[in-house]
Amino acid sequence: MMSVSPKGTRQARRAWVAACRKHIKRGKLYHVEFQHDPDCMIYSHEQVCTCNSVRVLKDAQGRPLACIEGAGEYDPLEMVEGVQ
Ligand SMILES: [Zn+2]
Repeated sequence: MMSVSPKGTRQARRAWVAACRKHIKRGKLYHVEFQHDPDCMIYSHEQVCTCNSVRVLKDAQGRPLACIEGAGEYDPLEMVEGVQ
């Protein structure tokens, strides 16, 4: 399992996209888990991520493939960009 704790958000995002490109294959099942801080606004009625969530990519059996810390706030569009 790849575990990355980069210094900067941009570097972390790049590592996350690279991990998605490497592991996500067409027709294969996978899970993406975002681990938010307990005080993240994603848990409020606004449902907007305000924390530095940890991104975990898992295969269909739930085994972690990659874990990226420090990639910044969760953006719903990033997965779309990540697998193109
Ligand atoms: Zn969050």
